[in-house]
Amino acid sequence: MTSILIVEDEAVVRDMLALNLQAEGYDVSTAEDGEAGLAASRAAAFDLVVLDVMLPRLDGLSLCRLIRKSSPAPILMLTARGTEVDKIIGLESGADDYIVKPFGLGEFLARVRAALRRAASAAPPPARDRLEVAGLTLDLIARRAAHHGEELKLTHKEFDLLAELMRNAGAVLTRDLLLQKVWGYDFVGDSRTVDVHIRWLREKIEADPSQPARITTVRGVGYRFEG
Ligand code: CA
Repeated sequence: MTSILIVEDEAVVRDMLALNLQAEGYDVSTAEDGEAGLAASRAAAFDLVVLDVMLPRLDGLSLCRLIRKSSPAPILMLTARGTEVDKIIGLESGADDYIVKPFGLGEFLARVRAALRRAASAAPPPARDRLEVAGLTLDLIARRAAHHGEELKLTHKEFDLLAELMRNAGAVLTRDLLLQKVWGYDFVGDSRTVDVHIRWLREKIEADPSQPARITTVRGVGYRFEG
């Protein structure tokens, strides 16, 4: 039976969602604050977690990140309009989807079904120990880099940064995202850190570092590794 955990402090909303999900045939558990939600998420495995952003004791975004560390279950956030939505998207909370309050039950149930369907059809990510794009090779286990077969000396951060860019070849990555992925959530710095490392990387992998063709700048957004 598909199991769903709802973490929502407003009893009226919590009960309404629980009743409707039960009526759809789901096995539903509920928690009324962030800490209870965390305990519940650790006590059992759920197929989906529905999480309110504004929660007492432990806020929904923090809880989302904590659950994401230990569970692959899709997370559907319930949110008020505005800045909360920005946070869900911008902070890499790990949420799979969000729905803005007030929402209709029909829309909510459709989102739940869609999230479960996506999770069921998602193949497990391939275990990759090597990245190869356009003449550049990264051995992620030995942490060695090569450029057309020749060893490339990279610092630890340059290696991680290049790996992140190559993993997402063709996609634009923002400075903030790169800061989080390569330097970590707790890193206190500004996005110039990223720019400086990009410049160093370019000096090592670009034919003409002043006219970069591998790592291009997308003005006002970030960087893209051209596959
Ligand atoms: Ca709330």
